[in-house]
Amino acid sequence: MKVYAVPEAGAPAEAMDFPTPELTGKEVLVRITNTGVCHSDAHTQEGFISIGGGKTMPLTAKFPAVFGHEIVGTVAAVGPDSSLTPGDEKFIVFPWIGCGECQACQENAENLCPRGRALSIALPGGFAEEVWVPDEKYLIPLGDLDASWGATLACSGVTSFSAVNKLLPAGDEDVIAVIGTGGVGLMGVAFLKELGHKKILAIDVADENLETAKKMGATHTFNSTSTDNPSKAIQELVGGRIFGAVDFVNNGATASLALSLLQKGGKLVSVGLFGGSHEYGTAPLALQAQTIQGSFVGSLPELQQLVEIAKTSDLPALPITEQELGADNLNAALDALREGRSRGRIVLVND
Ligand SMILES: [Zn+2]
Ligand SMILES: [Zn+2]
Repeated sequence: MKVYAVPEAGAPAEAMDFPTPELTGKEVLVRITNTGVCHSDAHTQEGFISIGGGKTMPLTAKFPAVFGHEIVGTVAAVGPDSSLTPGDEKFIVFPWIGCGECQACQENAENLCPRGRALSIALPGGFAEEVWVPDEKYLIPLGDLDASWGATLACSGVTSFSAVNKLLPAGDEDVIAVIGTGGVGLMGVAFLKELGHKKILAIDVADENLETAKKMGATHTFNSTSTDNPSKAIQELVGGRIFGAVDFVNNGATASLALSLLQKGGKLVSVGLFGGSHEYGTAPLALQAQTIQGSFVGSLPELQQLVEIAKTSDLPALPITEQELGADNLNAALDALREGRSRGRIVLVND
């Protein structure tokens, strides 16, 4: 099968032929129609991620690597035990596949599997004409959703959804802050509203993003560059300290701000990969019984739930640019992401 693979860390992607696997059990071969290009593809291509302060953390992929984990496609072929039949129906592919045997996998939290075999990291991903999926259960019917937007639900969508869910349920008076209202953060605001949460505080450095957040359901907005003491100003705005925060930026400054806002028993969910560090008082964390929880992508049940919500509500679509699948467009998209030139999502299309 034709793939666009990166031969080694730091190199551009090029067209290659990978052997088409013989399908057994409930395995599925998906013919790909749409694959979103994610920032983490650009990090994995480089082989490391910057974690702030000039430090990096290695990211390992199996080279030659086929990236791309926001995949929509049709069923091209199935194993003998599959209930699916090849055809034109489109599916979203859940990419965060685990070993299937460990405790995390048994609890349907395959995204937390220590021996994960995620598409685009351990297994070949979606910058290809076809992708091998180890079980039909990872395919979720796309229905009437736009295929390029539906593809983005598998990473940016479920990342946002899983993060806000870690703060729910919350009471009507509980304030939840969404820090960083770019595309993924805006979806977080929309999910909170859709899931019935009442008090949503959007924090960003751009008024334009905050205006959009308000339209998506934010009840309070705050530009953190508007004062020298944003923590005090925010507490004045919302009437005290807050129940929880989801930090879609997650650098030293935003994490410190979020922690300074939390009430007793409050929780910070850390999602963004901007990198940085912050100091916190260990005794206050105990005395205030607060929680800091990391959040990485999402589980299969979460993606299924999210797709259901997307089918039945008006979630904001990230701005999407569609381009034809090919090595040149893929490399240009990865470069744009790495250099911070990308707005919205680029989705490679192979119709
Ligand atoms: Zn991603
Ligand atoms: Zn596992």
